[in-house]
Amino acid sequence: MNSKATLMNSMRARLTFWYTGVLALVLLLFAFSTYLYLARASRQRTDDSLSDTASSFISSFNSELSDEHQPADEAIREASRNFHFRDRQVIVFDDRRNLVVASDIGEKMPFGNGWFALPEAQPQLASLLDAASRGGRAYATLFDSKNALRVLAVAVPAGQHSYLFVVANPLQEQEKALGQARKAFYVAIPLALLLTSLGGYLLARKSLAPVVTMGERAARIGASNLNERIPVPQNNNELGRLALIFNQLLARLDRSFAQQKRFMADASHELRTPVAVICGESEVALSKKTRDDTEYRESLAIVNDEGQRLTRMVEDLFTLARADAGEYPLVLTDFYLDESMNECVRSVRSLATQKELEISYQQPAKEIPFRGDEPLVRRMVLNLLHNAIKYTPKGGQVRVSVNENRQHCEVTIRDTGPGIPREAQPHIFDRFFRVDKARSRDESLNGSGAGLGLSIAKWVAELHGGGIRLNHSDAGGTTFVITLPVRA
Ligand code: ADP
Repeated sequence: MNSKATLMNSMRARLTFWYTGVLALVLLLFAFSTYLYLARASRQRTDDSLSDTASSFISSFNSELSDEHQPADEAIREASRNFHFRDRQVIVFDDRRNLVVASDIGEKMPFGNGWFALPEAQPQLASLLDAASRGGRAYATLFDSKNALRVLAVAVPAGQHSYLFVVANPLQEQEKALGQARKAFYVAIPLALLLTSLGGYLLARKSLAPVVTMGERAARIGASNLNERIPVPQNNNELGRLALIFNQLLARLDRSFAQQKRFMADASHELRTPVAVICGESEVALSKKTRDDTEYRESLAIVNDEGQRLTRMVEDLFTLARADAGEYPLVLTDFYLDESMNECVRSVRSLATQKELEISYQQPAKEIPFRGDEPLVRRMVLNLLHNAIKYTPKGGQVRVSVNENRQHCEVTIRDTGPGIPREAQPHIFDRFFRVDKARSRDESLNGSGAGLGLSIAKWVAELHGGGIRLNHSDAGGTTFVITLPVRA
């Protein structure tokens, strides 16, 4: 049996165990309280009935006493003769605890009619009579549960004397009924537990069956078949939702794997071109025994350019890889955004002049304090500025402005270049995306020309809690807007 099956088995067993355990507790509590209730109700009934008997007997005695004017002892005996006791015995003691009369109820008393004379009955009976003498009446249960007797003693004054009327009721019947109730519980509770644990186990098995199937399918999914999904149970319960969430996770993994694969493929493709140029150029240079200086210089210049492009591309790739891994060592400092933008514009001014472009910077009304990674923020703006210069033809203009409102500040970079084709616009922030691969490789500019500049700019903006958007692009030019949150 594999570990998954063991796990499911133990889960089923644990569910069943807890289910049965809780039920057992509930049933035991129920049985216990029901039994207690039954016992108390039965005792109460017996006590009420003993009290009724005592009252009837006492009133019979009183009427004998008043009607016939006979001595009290005789009246008691007379009352006992007239009174018919089927299942209980009446015993009367005088105030010196001498027996006056004891009725006969045959075999029903556990130790016979004379039980009250038994030595083992004496201590309990004496204390009952004492209690009745003191308080008027008292109840007690005598002997063990098998031969139990419920006894009521009532003190009855009669002239100079006082009598103790005792009514005793054997509890066999009640004990029998309670015994039957106990037996019913002994049988019913284990049976109920057995059936519920069996039912619980089957229920747990049925409910966990989809989990087993889902687990088996999930175990078969790996990097090579991330497009597979686990089955979603029909009904929209917790398991269905779990399966959906798991499938969504798989879809995300699938997408990110595909993205990684594409990134690797694109990166190696992009790296191959400069490497091929370097190899080709050096081979050509070496193919002839002798070459003049100019030829060597030309070849070395090409090798150097491509080497530099390779370095920039590797740097860009490294930045994106660290960004993806969330490992970029961000260094936050306080600086003025407007000042930083001004410096960026200044640093590309000579490039723009070389290309005969006019570049301008419109300063904001007041200084804009900002907290962020200044080199990264500059890199973002420079990427956009290099693109603007790279793609704008001779005689064009590049304008940079910075504006601020209460929530954020905006850096706008506008050029008078040819614009980005409408169908390419949604993809320009994608990695390795270039509209025109040849045009993109302008050696005079920073950036690898591998289509990574805008992806890096977007990442930097988002890293600082802002964003970047292509505001407008047509044949008249392109406008990018960077939005950054202002410092509170
Ligand atoms: P690259 O390194 O190729 O410039 P980017 O990610 O910076 O890569 O830009 C992606 C593509 O978007 C570019 O190849 C270019 O086609 C287009 N692009 C970006 N900025 C401009 C712009 N200012 N004018 C025209 N096209 C642009």
